[in-house]
Amino acid sequence: MDLGGTRIKAALVDRDGTQVATTLTPTPGDLDRPGALVDALAATFDRLRAEAPEAEVVACGAVVPGIVDDARGVAVYASNLRWRDVPVAKPLAERLGVPVALGHDVRAGLRAEVEWGAARGSRNVLFLPLGTGIAGALMLDGHLVVADGWSGEVGHVIVEPGGPQCPCGARGCLETLASAAAVARGYAAHVPAGAPPVDAKGVAALVAEGEPAAVAVWDRAVDALSRAVAMLVSATGVDHVLVGGGLSQSGELLLEPLRAQVKATLTFQRMPRIERATLGDRAGSLGSACLAWDLV
Ligand SMILES: [Zn+2]
Repeated sequence: MDLGGTRIKAALVDRDGTQVATTLTPTPGDLDRPGALVDALAATFDRLRAEAPEAEVVACGAVVPGIVDDARGVAVYASNLRWRDVPVAKPLAERLGVPVALGHDVRAGLRAEVEWGAARGSRNVLFLPLGTGIAGALMLDGHLVVADGWSGEVGHVIVEPGGPQCPCGARGCLETLASAAAVARGYAAHVPAGAPPVDAKGVAALVAEGEPAAVAVWDRAVDALSRAVAMLVSATGVDHVLVGGGLSQSGELLLEPLRAQVKATLTFQRMPRIERATLGDRAGSLGSACLAWDLV
């Protein structure tokens, strides 16, 4: 189960990663209510279970955004979903009658890419999904970096000091320039008030046509991303960067200039392979299945 800001994606997944059944439901709006997070996950489980009543369910994984303490099974903090220190794994296991693992959506997504996607065989990987926001996950020497749940807040690396205001309180965070939402917002600032909104996909299409305002927004996003990637390559030594999320659907329009700029920035460091993640929006639910299978 992958509980995101707007939707809960769930899948019944067998040992080799095949999805036997899936469900997609809106995320309830009241997750700050005590017990609401566990209730929402239990309801999702029941709905999915009803899709394949003959299947034997042996374990359950749930992934959420924000700060997640995987070891204790506690959802520590998520700014947009407004919860703090919610124990999930233990109460949910009691409700469902199967073992439950709680994890972080992006770390689990990387785990799925390693197991079944583009990171197979890689040991030092940065997974960077560019969606409404930006979170990252790191695998170093074959181990996912957790740091008590605090690793991977790549979206809040400051790449443009004094840049746009970030909801986190800082200015010029990567997320304010290079998320899908930031690209759409950046372009909106260039068009007359009252013009129909253009999403990141629409901006990408305009970039392909050479529309100057779209190109300027795009260049700024690529510049921000290249700074963050180069910084992370220097700090961690990753040699494989997997770009995911909505913005990655633009493919080489994004990746080609990103590679060029990272290459131009690095001096002696090894140049990472920069490519698209392959599991798309299934990465989180497949990653939660990896966590579940670990329990069996
Ligand atoms: Zn920030």
